[in-house]
Amino acid sequence: MHIGIVGAGQLGQMMAQAGAPLNIEFTFLDPAKAPCAAPYGRLLTADWDDADALHALIERADAITFEFENVSPRALEQLSSHRPAFPPSNALETSRDRLLEKSLFASLDIPLPPIARIDSQNDLEEAVARVGLPAVLKTRTLGYDGKGQKVLRHEQDIAGTFEELGGVPLILEGFVDFDHEVSVIAVRGRDGETRFWDISENEHRSGILHCAIPRQQHPCRQDAFRYAGQVMDALDYVGVMAFEFFVTANGLIANEIAPRVHNSGHWSIEGAQTSQFENHVRAVAGLPLGTTDLLTPCAMLNIIGAMPPAETLLALPGVRLHDYNKAPRPGRKIGHVTVLADSDEELQQRITQVENALINDLGIS
Ligand code: AMP
Repeated sequence: MHIGIVGAGQLGQMMAQAGAPLNIEFTFLDPAKAPCAAPYGRLLTADWDDADALHALIERADAITFEFENVSPRALEQLSSHRPAFPPSNALETSRDRLLEKSLFASLDIPLPPIARIDSQNDLEEAVARVGLPAVLKTRTLGYDGKGQKVLRHEQDIAGTFEELGGVPLILEGFVDFDHEVSVIAVRGRDGETRFWDISENEHRSGILHCAIPRQQHPCRQDAFRYAGQVMDALDYVGVMAFEFFVTANGLIANEIAPRVHNSGHWSIEGAQTSQFENHVRAVAGLPLGTTDLLTPCAMLNIIGAMPPAETLLALPGVRLHDYNKAPRPGRKIGHVTVLADSDEELQQRITQVENALINDLGIS
């Protein structure tokens, strides 16, 4: 079995690391000269849309998958008309447009904040009158890690804001007064079987994920699994999907889905019986899915902008290091550590030790 991956960053790298013991080979397509997944398979260096490179990927691969959702419709069409390509194109299209995504949640009765479609400054003024303040204004497409967003708190935040965000289609969301943020990572096989990892409690710093901790006893567990299952069934999904939620006094409020393996599920490499990467590869290859049970208390911490000496991290108990071999740059994810422990108390101590060793540069000026 040979899987073609559009993208050769750390997600592709970890998919290939998970597929290797199953004797699955990989070819990556990426415009970067030396992307971090390159040592783990064959590399096609070309633009995402390059028809010849897409053809070469089709020639080599039995099935295709993606590292990110912003694949052009033309590339998707070329790939999926020649090879099984997962997740399906409708899932990528839905999840890259916040309005389509939230309309899907609404159609499935999944709780979400009030939303409004914004195509002009006038729409924005009308929507604020309806949704109220505070509210969050987001670009419909191409936003990530809090980019392309603005929180509107006061009337004076509204003037000129449509142009300030680029004059592109936007969505206004009511501000959710949440207690914390969680995600659930789920997988659906080609036969429609679904599995779910434990809810992950996620802490962000400057809009970037800092720490993700699986919480077996989370009170919203069943709701999260049900909502993720509904979305995957509705999209006839195949592969791993992440669903991010706000946890409020009244339960879960949907934020967004990511049609791929997700940063908040990286702890599953060492912390679960089958990792998100292995189950994604299994789903794409049409193989049976593995059990997702948690093995031990664990957490994932991102390494952002600057890599501490490996000696420092590896001297700490229960630490597993993933150095993506990416050039350090403020705000860039260049690695992560999984912290493993025997109890929740020990885990918290070990997280603090790792936090003290990290020299993260979040790129805040
Ligand atoms: P997103 O790119 O939509 O995941 O948003 C990035 C971050 O902004 C989230 O992780 C939240 O911390 C915050 N955020 C996004 N939407 C809302 C909202 N409607 N209400 C409150 N906070 C939000």
